[in-house]
This record gives sequence, structure tokens and C-alpha cells, in this order.
Amino acid sequence: MMEQQNYSTDVLVIGSGAAGMMAARAAADKGANVIIADKSLIGRGGATILAQMTVAVALGEQEEDNPEIHFNDTMEGSRGLGDPEIVRVIVERGPDVIREVEGYGVRWARTPDGKRSQVVSPGHSRKRCVYVDILNTGGATSNGLRKAIWKDEKINRLKNVMITRLVRHQGKVIGAVGFSMEEMVPVSISASSVILATGGLTEIYERNSASANMTGDGFILAAEAGAELRDMEMVQFFPIAHLFPPLVGIDPIMWDPFRYKLGGRLLNGEQEEFMNRYAGEVAGKYTATRDMTSYAIFKEVEAGRGTPHGGAYLDFTMVPEEKLREGFGPVIDILRSQGVDLTKEMVEVAPMAHFMLGGVRVDKEMNTSVEGLLACGELIYGMHGANRLSGNAITEALVTGRIAGETAGASSNEKFDDLVKQELETEWEKLQQFWHPKQVAKDETATLEFRRRIQKLMWDEAGPLRSEELLADAQSKIKDLQKECKEFALAKQGKYALAAVEKLEAYNMTLLGDAIIKGAIARKESRGAHTRLDYPEQQEAAVSSSFTLNQDHEWEFSQIELNGK
Ligand SMILES: Cc1cc2nc3c(=O)[nH]c(=O)nc-3n(C[C@H](O)[C@H](O)[C@H](O)COP(=O)(O)OP(=O)(O)OC[C@H]3O[C@@H](n4cnc5c(N)ncnc54)[C@H](O)[C@@H]3O)c2cc1C
Repeated sequence: MMEQQNYSTDVLVIGSGAAGMMAARAAADKGANVIIADKSLIGRGGATILAQMTVAVALGEQEEDNPEIHFNDTMEGSRGLGDPEIVRVIVERGPDVIREVEGYGVRWARTPDGKRSQVVSPGHSRKRCVYVDILNTGGATSNGLRKAIWKDEKINRLKNVMITRLVRHQGKVIGAVGFSMEEMVPVSISASSVILATGGLTEIYERNSASANMTGDGFILAAEAGAELRDMEMVQFFPIAHLFPPLVGIDPIMWDPFRYKLGGRLLNGEQEEFMNRYAGEVAGKYTATRDMTSYAIFKEVEAGRGTPHGGAYLDFTMVPEEKLREGFGPVIDILRSQGVDLTKEMVEVAPMAHFMLGGVRVDKEMNTSVEGLLACGELIYGMHGANRLSGNAITEALVTGRIAGETAGASSNEKFDDLVKQELETEWEKLQQFWHPKQVAKDETATLEFRRRIQKLMWDEAGPLRSEELLADAQSKIKDLQKECKEFALAKQGKYALAAVEKLEAYNMTLLGDAIIKGAIARKESRGAHTRLDYPEQQEAAVSSSFTLNQDHEWEFSQIELNGK
């Protein structure tokens, strides 16, 4: 019998970002025993820890606001694809959840009168976004949530455990299997309910704001278990990510919070303001939503009015130095030490893959279409449709995590520990075959280089600007890469074999790339983040793309008319 680790629990949470930690807290509050497993350190992988500033919630502390207005703004921003049921539950529970995490030590910034600070961000019609710090809200949120789950005996934390498969019995999810990355030992976890909180997939693109492990495993785990995915072609591109000059140790999307504070001007290569021609943005203000700004920058570049490196200029030179210093704090000196003096010069910015808009379809209790399986956080579909408003993602993660934990913690499904253990043996054999195929087409150890080829293909041919011709080419190339991925072997594994993880992630990336391309080909319109050069108009009827995975690992695809939703 091989060495293995076998666990049994009431609720298994996979992923420990804001959604996963919140789900673990909520399930334990219901009295359930919980295991939270992550392929990274607990609370330190994924997007949450990277998030910068905004958390949108209708507290109404700086001006009149309520969840109904937040609902309307979000639905409008979604360009007709938001799911009203999901949007409503998130905006309605947002205020309570924001107060709850403050109890765990997430100190929302306050104005001198003691009220929580709230700022406007594009697409929100009110001062709605709370924050801890302009660049560190995600880190502070992770810290607070880690404290909230750390000393609870009901919550067992498994770090560096990659989940590779959900186990099903009679159509129901009964646990999960994977391996401990530190010891390369197989792991099984039997559970009454499984919550997927594995975040997004933007690592699939060459230019991205993600951490390297955001490879979309959860979409594949869910789809392999039979769950339906929606609108996988909808990937948000963050418009003003840093492009040039090269900077070290600076988050490429950090320009956003500074624009909330200081405005800044977006100029084309001819140093003219152009946003007023696309989204009616008033010069020096920051009001256009992300889909419109990304589109506008690409159109300027396409028209030959881009900057030398293919983006737009971001200009703060008209802001007086003391205001700049007040706004940027120590960041202004960090930039200066790298040769960028914002009082005198502009930087170049351009779009970058930032957030997965589509995902696993859930109901308002966060149940997927498969019994025993729930999902939450960036992994789910429904809140953002074709365009996410700034600040709506952390709120989504916190609220949907809490709801998923409550639902799972209150259920009492039967457990099948032995079946899950048995499945581990089968899975471990499959993994060995995947890592070291018997018929090796090519002995290849450079998994990172292989991943770069996927990223480049997705960026060049299925990225921000799409067309039938590019997508058709991408479709055949991604299939070739998928085949190649199955056929190359890893070098002999040592302890903590990172390449084993990277190969699994690369395979998931090819499958997800295929789904994105399929959806993008079928969606013959431009809507929100999805821009088709050959179909520039938005169609009147809104359709949602539906994906399921069949036995042969091929996507079954259809479009569902949303009837004006
Ligand atoms: C740079 C950046 C800045 C952002 N700024 C903001 C902002 O200001 N406001 C806002 O609202 N949103 C922001 N976002 C988006 C927001 O941070 C995310 O949408 C949100 O944090 C997602 O939380 P999550 O819990 O769903 O996923 P994540 O925080 O990504 O956590 C997912 C976890 O799942 C784990 N995992 C994945 N696959 C597996 C597997 N197979 N086995 C085990 N574990 C697995 C990962 O290691 C990770 O720890 C930002 C995102 C980025 C990248």
C-alpha cells in the first residue's frame, strides 16, 4: 500500500482566498468540521492577497446609497449578462459582511468624523468603495480572515495540497483527491459537501495581473464533476496596466487607485486626450468603465495613435508636486529611484488580463448543478456579466464565501470515506501516467516554457481583440498544445516537484483556452470585455454561453437566450 494521507470532514473548502476563508469560517459557525486545502500557503496564494484598494458596498456612510442602487449600477455595468438573482444577494448581504470582517481585524479606513471612508470608482454612481489602504486592502483582508480561521479547532488547514479531482458517487460529489506538493504524497479528503473557492484563470494570458498559480483549476474540477460553466469567453482586461518603462517590484495595476485620488490624464501617442470620444469621459476625470477604456486604448493603437510600446500615456504632470506626494506616498520615491519622475514625465499603460467574468453556475445558496458541490468567489458566474465594476470582486468573494459556508455547514449528506480512498489509488496511477507517459513523444522538462506558448497564443489570438480568423487559428493551435501537453514527460520527480504541478496547470490552461475560444467564436457581437473586430455591434438579444465537459474531455456548448435578464 502506498504512503498516503486520508482525511474525513463535514465540509471541504478548496482554495483559501477571501471566498475560501470566509466559507470555512461560515461553515464552522454552523457547527461543521471543516478542512481548508490550498495548493499555496493558506491565505497567501491567488488574487485576494494582491488586491489593491476597492471593496464596493452600499453602506451609505459618505453619501446616500442602498443595495438597490448598487444592484442597478452592477446590472448596468454587466452589459445585459449579469444574473439578477446573484447580483441581488451579493449587494444585499455586502454591508453585513463588510462589518463582519471588520470584527476580524480588517480595519476599513475612516474619515475624521468616524465614518468609513468611501470613494467613487468607475461605474458606481455613489461613493461606495471602502478600503483599508490604497495598495494593500487585499493583504489586510487576507490577514483578518487568516486570524478568523487560525485558532479554530473546527478548521483544519492543509497547505501546499493540490486538488486534482473531485470524487463522485451516484452523481453526487463525496470528496476530493490530490497530493501534498511538499512530500509528493497522495491525499484523499472525504466530505459531506465540497466548496470550490479556487479563484480565476488569468495566468492563461501573456500579459496578466495574476499570481502564477491562478490557472483556473477549479473550472476544470467543477466541469469534470458535471457542473455547468457559463460565459467562459468573458475575461476582463484591466485597461491601464503598466507598460513602459520597465519597473521592478511595482504592481502593474497600481495606477488605478492613484487615478481615483488624483484623476490623471489618459493621452494617445499624439498626446491628445481621447476618452471623451469613446465614453464621454471628462478630461482629467476617471469615470469610464474598464471595458470602455480598454476598447478605447486599443482603437487608438489600431488607428496608429498608440504610444511607442503600443498603449496610451498616463499623465500626472499637471498635478502639483505636493499633491502628488500626498497621493502617492512612498511610491513616488520608489518610482523616482527607478528613473520615473511623475512631476516631469508620463508612463505608458495598456490593457492586461485581470479577472475572470464567467464561471461556474450557482444558485443563490451557491449550490452548483451537481449535488454536494458548491462554488464561490471569482470562480462563479453571475455577478459581473460582460464587465466587472471596480470593487465588486472582493465583495463577491466575501459574500458568496459566507453563503456557501452557511449552506454546506447546514447540510448533512452521507459520507463515503472508503470510496474516496479507493478513488485516490486510481487517481494516483493516472497522475503517474500523465507525468511520465509510457509513450513519450518528446522528453521535455521545460514546463514553464510550454506554458508561455499557451499564454502567448491566448494573448495574440483570443485576447482583447478577437476575430473569426484569429480565433479559428487559435482553436486548432490550442488543441495541438493540449495533445503535446499529454505527451511530454517530466524529469524524474524529486521532493516538492513543482514541475508536476505546472504540468497539471498547463493542461488545465489548454482546456480552458479551448472553452474561451469556443465561446468567443460563437459570440458574434461585441459586448463588454468581449471585442470582436468583425462584429463591432452589441446584439439586441443577450445570450449566455453554456459549457459542460463530456467523457472525452471535449466541451459541449450551447447558447441560452436570457429573455431580457
Ligand atoms: C492584482 C489584483 C488586484 C485586484 N484588486 C482588486 C480590488 O481592488 N478590488 C476588488 O474588488 N477586486 C480586486 N481584484 C480581484 C479580487 O482580488 C479577486 O477576484 C478575489 O480576491 C478572488 O478571491 P477568491 O477567494 O475567489 O480567489 P483567490 O483569492 O484567487 O484564491 C484562490 C485560491 O485557490 C487556490 N487554488 C487554486 N487551485 C487550486 C487547487 N487545484 N488545489 C488547491 N488550491 C487551489 C489558490 O492557490 C488560491 O489561494 C484584484 C485582483 C488582482 C489579481
